Amino acid sequence: MIPAGFEYHRPADITSAITILQTHGDDARVIAGGHSLIPMMKLRMTDLAHLVDLQAIDGLRGITIDADSVSIGAMVTQHELITNADLAAAIPIIAEASLQIADPQVRYVGTIGGNVANGDPGNDMPGLMQCLNASYELAGPDGTRQVAARDFYEAAYFTARDDEEILTRIHVPIPASGTGYAYEKQKRKIGDYATAASAVLISVEGGRCTAASIAMTNLADTPVWAEAAAAALAGSTLDDGAIATAVAAAIDAIDPVADNRGPIAFKKHVAAAILRRAIDRAIARAT
Ligand SMILES: Cc1cc2nc3c(=O)[nH]c(=O)nc-3n(C[C@H](O)[C@H](O)[C@H](O)COP(=O)(O)OP(=O)(O)OC[C@H]3O[C@@H](n4cnc5c(N)ncnc54)[C@H](O)[C@@H]3O)c2cc1C
Repeated sequence: MIPAGFEYHRPADITSAITILQTHGDDARVIAGGHSLIPMMKLRMTDLAHLVDLQAIDGLRGITIDADSVSIGAMVTQHELITNADLAAAIPIIAEASLQIADPQVRYVGTIGGNVANGDPGNDMPGLMQCLNASYELAGPDGTRQVAARDFYEAAYFTARDDEEILTRIHVPIPASGTGYAYEKQKRKIGDYATAASAVLISVEGGRCTAASIAMTNLADTPVWAEAAAAALAGSTLDDGAIATAVAAAIDAIDPVADNRGPIAFKKHVAAAILRRAIDRAIARAT
């Protein structure tokens, strides 16, 4: 099916884009890579009179790396996240997770901004950003504000972003040197969304876990930052008992629904298995 007709706008800066959103209200939506929005329009699940293309706005591009944080422009593609060597050195879990998204064709155009702003529980980046404690910079008619990824997701396709705001950049603190990491994803086939995925960061000192962060993807109507699961690891020697407690806490925190990826019991089983795998790999990588 082809989408219904719409008026196409291509502003050259963020202020002009916000003005178009203000003018047309609910009838307008920004488009980044289009790989989530266009399929919805083709299926006539979304009908918009005005599309505001962000491709010509240079201020939404680029990755900058400081001593303790990384700033990623909303229009940075998943392909760029995979191929940027400096980013891979600073926060390697971002490339590891990006490689699990869709296929190369989608990753060449799909953007990190579109992936995190979309609010689709199946998107891989929101959980990862919660695990990393990233924050989102939003620009709107009243100026700019920051929202923590952990506070951004309210329900499926509902976020803390106002309709007239544009997500401009994502700020990610660089984990301490030696932090172990792993992104594990179980999917039905290459290119599919997750049946279950988990992002894990673990710091170890003298055989004890000093800090941990765990987030789960596509196992509730929002990404799940599993605070109690991470707390079960922190301070432990990362023995089997502590890991089992952490996995159980994460499974308690999720709320999957039955769909064509399987019944609830199956999803919980898969979630536990991939989380265990991610924790083991993160521990092995922690130095
Ligand atoms: C076959 C296929 C398989 C896929 N598999 C996966 C997968 O396994 N994992 C995964 O994570 N994703 C997957 N995707 C989705 C893909 O990663 C999308 O590209 C991505 O989720 C959205 O990015 P986009 O740039 O295409 O956004 P768009 O489709 O352009 O926009 C998505 C939504 O975000 C809004 N938006 C976009 N940018 C901004 C911004 N800067 N500020 C405010 N709002 C904004 C748009 O208005 C729209 O509502 C798949 C897509 C396809 C087609």
